[in-house]
Amino acid sequence: MHEGLKLLLDIQELDIKMIRLMRVKKQRQSELKQIESLRVELREQLSLKEEEIKDLDKQITSLEAKLQGLTEKYKKLESQQSSVKKVEEFNALTQEMTTVEREKAALESQTSNILDKKNAEEEILEKIKESLSSSETNSLELEKEILSSINKINDEGQQLKNERDALIREADPTILKVYERLLRNKKDRVIVPIENRTCSGCHIALTLQHENLVRKGEAVTFCEHCSRIHFWQESEAVEGTTVATRRRRRRTVKT
Ligand SMILES: [Zn+2]
Repeated sequence: MHEGLKLLLDIQELDIKMIRLMRVKKQRQSELKQIESLRVELREQLSLKEEEIKDLDKQITSLEAKLQGLTEKYKKLESQQSSVKKVEEFNALTQEMTTVEREKAALESQTSNILDKKNAEEEILEKIKESLSSSETNSLELEKEILSSINKINDEGQQLKNERDALIREADPTILKVYERLLRNKKDRVIVPIENRTCSGCHIALTLQHENLVRKGEAVTFCEHCSRIHFWQESEAVEGTTVATRRRRRRTVKT
C-alpha cells in the first residue's frame, strides 16, 4: 500500500460521513422550507379571499344605494299621482311606477345573488383561517424537531471537521489535493480497493499489469476508467483499511 494513502483512507471515511450528513441536513432544510411555503400559500389565499369579500361588500353597498334611490323615486311618483287630475297623466305615472318596480326587483335579485356569493366566500375564508392556524400550531412542533436535528447535524459536522483538520495536517498535500478534487466530482469513495482484478468504484476489469503496480504501492495509481485511486487490500496491506486504522488510531490516542 502506498504510504500516503493510509491516512487518506481515514480522511475519506470522515468525508463520506460528512457527505451523508450534509445530505440529511439538506433534506431537513427542504422540509422546513416546505412547511414555510405552505404557510405562505395559505396567507396569500387568505388575503386574496379578504380582498374578494371587500369587493363584494362594495358592490352590495352600491346596489343598496341604487335601491334606495329607486324607492325614493317610487314614493315621489306615488305622491305625484295622488295630485294629478287627468287620466292620461295618471296612467303615464302608473307605467313609470311599474318600470321602477321592475328595476327594483332586478336590483334586489342581483343584490341577493351577491349576498349569497359573499356568504359562500366567507365560509371559504373561515376554512382557510382554520387551516392556517392548524398549520401554524401543528407545524410548530415539527419545525422545532427539525431545527434541533439540524443543530445536532451541525455539531456532528463540526466534530467531523475537527477530526479531519487534525488528520490533514499529517497528509501529503499533493495527494490530498488530487483526492479532494476527485471527491468533489464523485461525491463518493474515490480511494477504492481492487477486488477480483476489478475497480470497486466503477466495476470495470483491470489489467494484470495495473494490478501489479497497485500491489507494489510505490506510486499513487489511478483507475484508467473512472480516475479513482486504487489500493491493494490483502495480508499486510489490510492495516490500511478503515477498521485497522481506526484500531491503530485508538491505540495512538491511548499512548
Ligand atoms: Zn474505476
